[in-house]
Amino acid sequence: MAEFTMELNDEQKEVRDWLHGFAADVIRPAAAEWDEREETPWPVIQEAAKVGIYSLDFYAQQYFDSTGLGIPMAMEELFWGDAGIALSIVGTGLAAVGVLANGTEEQIGTWIPQMYGDVNDVKVAAFCSSEPDAGSDVASMRTRAVYDQAKDEWVLNGTKTWATNGGIANVHVVVAVVDPELGSKGHASFIVPPNTPGLSQGQKFKKHGIRASHTAEVVLEDVRVPGSCLLGGKEKLDERLARARERARTGGERVKNAAMATFEASRPAVGAMAVGTARAAYEVALQYATTREQFGRPIIDNQGVAFQLADMRTSIDAARLLVWRASWMAVNGKPFTAAEGSMSKLFASETAKKVTAQAIQILGGNGYTREYPVERMHRDAAIYTIFEGTSEIQRLVIARTLAGMPIR
Ligand SMILES: Cc1cc2nc3c(=O)[nH]c(=O)nc-3n(C[C@H](O)[C@H](O)[C@H](O)COP(=O)(O)OP(=O)(O)OC[C@H]3O[C@@H](n4cnc5c(N)ncnc54)[C@H](O)[C@@H]3O)c2cc1C
Repeated sequence: MAEFTMELNDEQKEVRDWLHGFAADVIRPAAAEWDEREETPWPVIQEAAKVGIYSLDFYAQQYFDSTGLGIPMAMEELFWGDAGIALSIVGTGLAAVGVLANGTEEQIGTWIPQMYGDVNDVKVAAFCSSEPDAGSDVASMRTRAVYDQAKDEWVLNGTKTWATNGGIANVHVVVAVVDPELGSKGHASFIVPPNTPGLSQGQKFKKHGIRASHTAEVVLEDVRVPGSCLLGGKEKLDERLARARERARTGGERVKNAAMATFEASRPAVGAMAVGTARAAYEVALQYATTREQFGRPIIDNQGVAFQLADMRTSIDAARLLVWRASWMAVNGKPFTAAEGSMSKLFASETAKKVTAQAIQILGGNGYTREYPVERMHRDAAIYTIFEGTSEIQRLVIARTLAGMPIR
């Protein structure tokens, strides 16, 4: 087990500086344009692929870093550049992690490379869980997967919503109900391979922020996928369902909720994205406050401005520490006895919303215009308190964990 440390090692510093260079030289200059275009920034993703940032190798290297700091450090730098573009770059990783976590070795080897494509023909992937009537309440999911034994195929029907890269992805990972009696225990994940008939993009959403990231509905109409597309395989699913049915029948002991443990481990990454956006806005505000003069002196000479900056920086550093702690716990298999993963996401996302709003205030009229980036950063920051579980859901998870109460 790696000791918890707050200091990046030399190799990590090198990676951080390299990512920061890409974020500063390639992502940030493109941010305003793709925000206005509200389109996937394919040329930037391709550039990231060329230098090796958009690749399974890079993602896996950070993911398996035993200090736990690889992913949060990478997320912070990329999202410091721009949240919408960075989400277009890391969105595929969300689907890839779904396969890494639940897939067989063969499924990992077959599908993850197709999620990324290659440098000359980059592809993206989508993870589709949310539905119009199943957002926070995942258990009320309706998309159904039915097994056709004669053909060894699964047939998927339903509508997914809010899918990042939904409809434009080469590979979609779709969560569906295989046993409606079992609530969230009766769900399974499926690969929908490229060009599968029956899968189509529904509405593409026009959003408040992260507008360079594509978000859309995904409609599944009699989508047939081979049996081999069930993540983890049929045998494992049948065993898992049999155990869940037995527990439901006997009222047996509640087992540790595996999905919740996965969320605790993935939420710090979203916290790190929020830290990146917050830090970006803080830096713009600090620079502005030291150069903008009113009443014959820089505005930072006023305590009203300086103390805001002090609070902004304090919250950002506190958020990063919570994120790093939770990431270290996740990588080293520490039990999240106080929902530390949710804690980090809650605090970092609320910090990003607050800090970006303070940055607008410090820039005055300029902060309110699209001539300066803090207005965009504030719009972007609002997503962090919504996706991967809203702030209310994080509080609910933390409170129930502290009270020793079950979490659905
Ligand atoms: C830009 C974007 C990208 C996304 N990307 C993906 C993706 O790639 N894949 C995917 O599957 N999903 C994705 N999502 C979906 C996201 O995870 C959901 O929006 C989120 O889980 C909230 O669900 P909801 O929107 O249905 O809100 P609801 O669940 O309807 O919540 C509405 C409000 O009620 C509150 N609330 C609900 N239940 C409770 C409760 N028990 N106690 C207190 N308050 C409660 C919520 O906190 C919220 O404030 C994305 C969403 C957005 C906006």
